[in-house]
Amino acid sequence: MDLGEKLEILADSAKYDVACTSSGVNRVGQPGSLGSCAAAGICHAFTPDGRCVSLLKVLYSNACAYDCSYCVNRRTNDHPRATFTPRELAELTIGFYRRNYIEGLFLSSAVLGTPDRTMELMIEALRILREEYHFRGYIHAKTIPGADPLLVERIGLFADRLSVNIELPSEASLTQLAPDKKKAAILRPMGQIAVKSAQSRRELSVYRSAPAFAPAGQSTQMIIGATPETDRHILNLTEGLYKKYSLKRVFFSAYLPIVADARLPALSTRPPLLREHRLYQADWLLRYYHFSAGELLSEEEPNFDPYLDPKCNWAIRHPAFFPVEVNTASREELLRVPGIGPKSALRIVQARRMQTLGMAELKRIGVVLKRAQYFITCSGHTPAHGTRAEIAGALLDPKAFGVGVQQMSLDDFAAKPLPAAAPAVHELAEHGVAASKAAQLVREEALTCLTRRM
Ligand code: SF4
Repeated sequence: MDLGEKLEILADSAKYDVACTSSGVNRVGQPGSLGSCAAAGICHAFTPDGRCVSLLKVLYSNACAYDCSYCVNRRTNDHPRATFTPRELAELTIGFYRRNYIEGLFLSSAVLGTPDRTMELMIEALRILREEYHFRGYIHAKTIPGADPLLVERIGLFADRLSVNIELPSEASLTQLAPDKKKAAILRPMGQIAVKSAQSRRELSVYRSAPAFAPAGQSTQMIIGATPETDRHILNLTEGLYKKYSLKRVFFSAYLPIVADARLPALSTRPPLLREHRLYQADWLLRYYHFSAGELLSEEEPNFDPYLDPKCNWAIRHPAFFPVEVNTASREELLRVPGIGPKSALRIVQARRMQTLGMAELKRIGVVLKRAQYFITCSGHTPAHGTRAEIAGALLDPKAFGVGVQQMSLDDFAAKPLPAAAPAVHELAEHGVAASKAAQLVREEALTCLTRRM
């Protein structure tokens, strides 16, 4: 098999992994070295739908010894297999970099024999890149659960970011769908990376030349919709991972049915893109809006509303918190107002030192007044008195009623994702209702329900 064929197979096999985005690392080029790295998100990934790419995203090998039922690379799947040599992978990366195709590398791998052997080969490829080619571009490497801690330590000295995929949200699901994987084997390297990263940051603050261990931190990925866990379970787990392992990101990947297996959703199941979107919105609320998982979902309401973003949903359930006076509220209080994000909250706090804020100033600052006007006062004055139906109409998420819903095969999906419309819109469209009509009908129904709830 020539290198081009290997690349085709191994880049294709890597496309289901979403756990990579921009780097967060600043490293300028040096004479005698190759590449540089900017913190401001220039390193992107090649996602299956063709969105912006500038990392070479590839597996070292797809010849897996494990048999995770949801994965195309599983041992029992009849699928073309390929494995790079360390030098092939390093030379390929450098060749692409020199031709300006990529700015970095996202390297993962199936389990080639054993976790240790796989990691040793990946480390050797990264060593060649860093030490022989003096490559200073961004590298995101996967840690193989179950690998020796010494290997984790070594790969962290070559990679900017590490990730260990948690894959499924509970141990029971892991046992059922990925019997070779153990929760402890996944969490142990996460803990090690968290400790080593913190230690490395401390050392770097004292000695500038101390070796940097995974300076862009670690991330993980979770598959959504393959197993029965609720959004509440997933969000609690996400919050726990951020707190315990200082993760930079938890990525959610809507389950894409590519495998016929009685333990998995049917092949005709649509990837739960809207659910994935809601989880990402909630993830932002945890990281940037000072919400906790327990505030967003409860035992009685364990899943997100498909028609409302999680912050609007929280606002509707907490009418006593509002209105918020924009001229005196704390930044944390402002962040709870629908239509006010972290940037506009900060600008409000800064601007009101100079002047009293009214609607015109809030508009200039970038507040989404369509939603915020029903939840704020400006110097005691209420900007809008909408009816319940008007407020509900302003809060419904237009994304849930995305038009242009089409019947697509999974092959189509790989090229172009389905719009993340609510499942009810898809269901009507599948029954022959025109996409725009389906969206309109579902929106009317959602509006009536929400108006009643308020
Ligand atoms: S370990 Fe499981 S998920 Fe990873 S490549 Fe192998 S079969 Fe796929």
